[in-house]
Amino acid sequence: MTRNLVQAAYIVSAVLFVLSLAGLSRHEKAKEGNAFGVTGMVIALAATIWLAASQSANALLTLLFVVVAMAVGGSIGLWRARVVEMTQMPELVAMLHSFVGLAAVLVGFNSYLEGGDAGTGVTIHLVEVFLGVFIGAVTFTGSIVAFLKLGARIRSSPLMLPARHWLNLAALVVSAGLLAWFVASHSVVPLLLMTVVALAFGWHLVASIGGGDMPVVVSMLNSYSGWAAAAAGFMLGNDLLIVTGALVGSSGAILSYIMCKAMNRSFVSVIAGGFGQEVSLGEDKDYGEHRETNAADVAELLRDASSVVITPGYGMAVAQAQYPVAELTSQLRKKGVDVRFGIHPVAGRLPGHMNVLLAEAKVPYDIVLEMDEINGDLPGTDVVLVIGANDTVNPSAAEDPGSPIAGMPVLEVWKARNVVVFKRSMATGYAGVQNPLFFKENSQMLFGDAKERVEDIIKAL
Ligand code: NDP
Repeated sequence: MTRNLVQAAYIVSAVLFVLSLAGLSRHEKAKEGNAFGVTGMVIALAATIWLAASQSANALLTLLFVVVAMAVGGSIGLWRARVVEMTQMPELVAMLHSFVGLAAVLVGFNSYLEGGDAGTGVTIHLVEVFLGVFIGAVTFTGSIVAFLKLGARIRSSPLMLPARHWLNLAALVVSAGLLAWFVASHSVVPLLLMTVVALAFGWHLVASIGGGDMPVVVSMLNSYSGWAAAAAGFMLGNDLLIVTGALVGSSGAILSYIMCKAMNRSFVSVIAGGFGQEVSLGEDKDYGEHRETNAADVAELLRDASSVVITPGYGMAVAQAQYPVAELTSQLRKKGVDVRFGIHPVAGRLPGHMNVLLAEAKVPYDIVLEMDEINGDLPGTDVVLVIGANDTVNPSAAEDPGSPIAGMPVLEVWKARNVVVFKRSMATGYAGVQNPLFFKENSQMLFGDAKERVEDIIKAL
């Protein structure tokens, strides 16, 4: 009876999760989608806790364990969600993915120790355990590397071990051999050995991917964490976990694919740890001299302009410069200047980052254009203000086939008559590559914190 009711609750939750995903795929329906997701999760949790309590010999003790674990985990989660900066969101997501991976590994070992059904069921159970632990371990260390890279705790440039693709291939072949040994012997030794190999494999896979491809990596790890959860669902015999894991796994895979297309990257190459990409960082190159400018001169330039395009990036988010940028936009528009924004698909540190910030500062939505919509108009633009963006406006992507970001579509700001770059130094962007834009004849650097510099320009205007 309890089981049937729980199954019914699971079906309701699964439908709510599908509705949630459908809602989240459109701006107008996103809030509704979130509400569906939260409701589905509450039902799923209540049903699972009830099932656990009703099956246990000591229901009260089980409930106590669950409540204590949820109180501790929930408080930490609530605190992190409250204090996290918008710019640190991808790091937080990467860290959460690593927990899903670790959970799948632990569930796998637990399931192995408990043993499965007798007969042919045993083989299937062992394969489930093996795959669950493998995917979980890869997700665990891969997500930790992504977390460290996104938080600049380790270098974001790709780790280029000699024969790195052979190492990846060897990890897969060895794991397949260990699977055969595990199924034949039922021994814990091959399971332990594979865990070590998978942990190293996950670490190496993400370490070999360069900073510019990190958005795809985060969404790919999201997908892996879904498959890890689905594998855990098989081991625990929990249908809802299988459905939820499959939803996360496939939506993450679809998102990764769409992002790869948008950034002109090969999907296979990215998920195989940068397979087929031979890059040189080319840092010794002499790019020439850059020119500096000041707020008063930029104000003068803007006053004389009839068309201005603003291309924001991660630096605008860090400086929280969106409010003065919105103010500058409104002042220029009052003077009759045509001001528009050009948004690169991966500007900032998470998809849609810039759109959210600009909407928050009440920049009218109809002047915020996508990269493809604005690129054609840049050659006829008087002034482009590059505010805290770097990789997303780097001409090497279009002009230097050896660059780590070669082939990635960029905002072609260098084609405008004048370009002003707001940043604090000549440092490189996230991908760790120098930007020849800074040395072009029509470019000028406005050094300092983006928020302060934009406020200076407003004063000068
Ligand atoms: P970049 O990281 O390339 O450049 C940001 C620039 O902002 C830096 O060069 C920095 O220069 C400058 N900056 C930092 N702080 C300030 C400040 N307070 N005031 C003024 N300038 C500042 O950012 P982009 O947005 O151009 O590119 C995004 C990069 O991030 C891409 O490589 C993308 O692949 C990657 N990425 C994107 C994700 C996504 O989903 N959108 C997720 C993960 C990574 P300086 O230090 O000299 O000030």
